[in-house]
Amino acid sequence: MGRYLGIDVGATWTRAVLTDGWGNVLERAKIRTGADPLGEISSLLTGWTFDGVGVGSIGPLDLARGWVVNSPNSPTRQFPLVEPLKKFGKPVVVANDCVAAVWGEYLYKHRRDNLVYMTISTGVGFGAVVNGFLLLGKDGNAHELGHAVVDFKSQRRCGCGGLGHLEAYVGGGNVAKAFGREPAELFRLYRANDRKAVEFIDMWLDALAAGVATAIAAYDPEVFIVGGSIALSNWDIIAPELERRLEKYLAIRPPEIKTASFGDDEVAIGAAALVRQTPEALKKFGYPR
Ligand SMILES: [Zn+2]
Repeated sequence: MGRYLGIDVGATWTRAVLTDGWGNVLERAKIRTGADPLGEISSLLTGWTFDGVGVGSIGPLDLARGWVVNSPNSPTRQFPLVEPLKKFGKPVVVANDCVAAVWGEYLYKHRRDNLVYMTISTGVGFGAVVNGFLLLGKDGNAHELGHAVVDFKSQRRCGCGGLGHLEAYVGGGNVAKAFGREPAELFRLYRANDRKAVEFIDMWLDALAAGVATAIAAYDPEVFIVGGSIALSNWDIIAPELERRLEKYLAIRPPEIKTASFGDDEVAIGAAALVRQTPEALKKFGYPR
């Protein structure tokens, strides 16, 4: 069945997991993301044996080159994803982090042909499997629905420079700016019934529901999966409110809404899944390499 290495390159942390062929985690490693995240973490993995390496990375990507390009959130704006891993002499597959996550959910958990994965953390990202096919786009940056417009009259500026984007309302970075405190503190105040926090979260949940409705309209999923640190820590608040608020935005039959299956390992396990069974869409970019 084999063993597969999965690496999650995030803005702050780079995580590695060694998995078996069913996505069970055998080993873990984690470092702060530096200038060459894959070179740095791979030096820690001595003694790990595996048959292939998958990477799920922050973007944007140039999948044909196998690089991250112009990333606004990482310590260096661009870095290679494939070259630092060639020393292992094993097949390498790379994709965007949410793309990896949705593939992990597809291969190891839900096995339904129409899945969407959404992350809510510092930013907002999506990955989609439609009719069993992983969506990638021309450079591997399809489904950037974090930048879908949820309020076209808005003056609120997103990190990308655009106005009224979902991420500007829902992403942790922008929430901290707009509310004046970190999301963890915002949710703590909400739970304590603080009036300003309750008002803010009421708006936040509407913006989230609008964004989720947009993704459902685009992909018509059977299962809509939500992960990322903000969602995982506050799922008790989000789950009932999201289902209720979606009713006012949705035109089509709603999907099942689920929380991410693998917690903090979501992207890394998904990355391992990319090399365990490489999606046809990635083969067209010449992966595994
Ligand atoms: Zn944006």
